[in-house]
Amino acid sequence: RLKEGRALAQDVWSIFNAANLPHDCINLGQGYMNFSPPQWIKDAAETALGSVAANHYSHPRGRPRLRQALKKFYDPLFKRDLDVESEILVTSGANEGQYSVFVAFLEQGDEVILFEPFFDQYLPSVTFNGGIPVYVPLHPDRSKRKITGDDWKIDFDELRRAITPKTKMIVINTPHNPVGKVFTRQELEGIAALAEEFNLLVMCDEVYDILVFDHKEHVRFATLPGMWDRTVTVGSAGKMFAATGWRVGWLIAPKSIIQPTLAATTRIVFCTNSPLQEAAAAGLEQARERHFFENQLQEYTERRDILVRAFEQLGLSYTLPQGTYFILLDISKITYPDDYPFPASVLDRGKDFRACWFIAMEIGVSSIPVSEFYCEEHVNIGENYARFAFCKDTDTLKQAAERLQGLS
Ligand code: GLN
Repeated sequence: RLKEGRALAQDVWSIFNAANLPHDCINLGQGYMNFSPPQWIKDAAETALGSVAANHYSHPRGRPRLRQALKKFYDPLFKRDLDVESEILVTSGANEGQYSVFVAFLEQGDEVILFEPFFDQYLPSVTFNGGIPVYVPLHPDRSKRKITGDDWKIDFDELRRAITPKTKMIVINTPHNPVGKVFTRQELEGIAALAEEFNLLVMCDEVYDILVFDHKEHVRFATLPGMWDRTVTVGSAGKMFAATGWRVGWLIAPKSIIQPTLAATTRIVFCTNSPLQEAAAAGLEQARERHFFENQLQEYTERRDILVRAFEQLGLSYTLPQGTYFILLDISKITYPDDYPFPASVLDRGKDFRACWFIAMEIGVSSIPVSEFYCEEHVNIGENYARFAFCKDTDTLKQAAERLQGLS
C-alpha cells in the first residue's frame, strides 16, 4: 500500500521546509510558533525531569495527573462526568491518536469520508490502515472578495451520496485547518443526522478548540444529542500551549472507542513521553486562574488581523478565519514567469505550488499550497489558495505583511 498514490510522494511540509528556502524567508508555512511555551509551563517540564517517575514509562492511558487535569478542563465543555480510566486517552500528539483510531477501527475496504480541504495526514493514515478515503469538498463562495468559513459550504446531497454500505467513519475538523472554518451547529446537526441514519463513527478533530475568534460558537460534535456514543474527539497540548514538538495529545470518547484505540496506541508507542505530560497537566491546571487561554486568544486575534489588513490593502480575496492560526489567500490572480526555475517537486503539482514557491523566493514569505489538502480530482479547487500561518510574533507578521505588499 505504501507504493500506491501519494503515500511516497514528497509531502508539502518537506518541500516548503525552511531548509529549502532562502534563509531570510519569513516562514508562515508549516504551522508552528516562533515562540516558546510560557515560562511557567516550561518550569513544570523541568520540575518533572527532576523526578524519577517522570523519566520513565507512563501508563499507556496517560499519566493520571494529566488525565485528571483533562477531566477537570473538559467536563464542563462536554457536560459530562468523564471517566479518567475509560474515556480519556493520552496520545503522542493528536496525529498518533487519530492514527490509532484508524488502526483500531478500519478493516480493509472500509470507507472514510473526508471533507476537502482536509488536513493532509488523514489521507495516509486512512490508506495505511486499509481504508478508502471518500472526498466531499466544501464549496467556497468565490463571488465575494472577503469570505468566512460560513461561505465554505457543505452540499448535504453530495454528502449523502458519498455514503455507501462500506462507509465506516466520517472525519470532521472544527475549527478547520486550513480554512479556519468553525462548523455551525446546523451543519454539525446535519452531519449528526447522517451519522445516526447510517451508523457511522465520527472522528472530530478539535485541536484548535482554544482558538475560536469573535465569540463564534464552537460546538463539540460529541455534545449533540445521541452523538457521544459514536464520536471520538481529538485534542492537542501542542496547539494549546505553543508546544507543537512536545507531541502530547489526547482522545476523548466512550469506552467502546477508547478501549480498542488504547490497544492500538499501546502497540505503536506504548506510552507518550512522561515529563511533557506532566507539563501539559500543569498547563491545564493553571490555565484558568492565569487567564491563559483568553490572553492567548487576544494575541492570536491581533496576529490574525495583521495579515487581514495586509490582504485588505492588497485588495486580494481571502477567507477571514473564524478559528485556528491559518488564513487562506486567494492566489489565483498572482502571476509568475513560466520559465521560473521551479524545482521538480513543485513543477509536477498544482499551480498553487508554483505560486507559493515564487512568493517564498521573490517576496520572502513562505506559505503552504492548499491543493495538498485535496484529492487529485479536486486539485482545481485547492490550487486557488495559499495558506499562511499566523502563529508567529507580531514583529515577524508585520514584516511579512509589508513584504506581501510586493504582490500588488
Ligand atoms: N498542523 C501543522 C500544520 O498544519 C503541522 C502539520 C505537520 O507538520 N504535519 O501546519
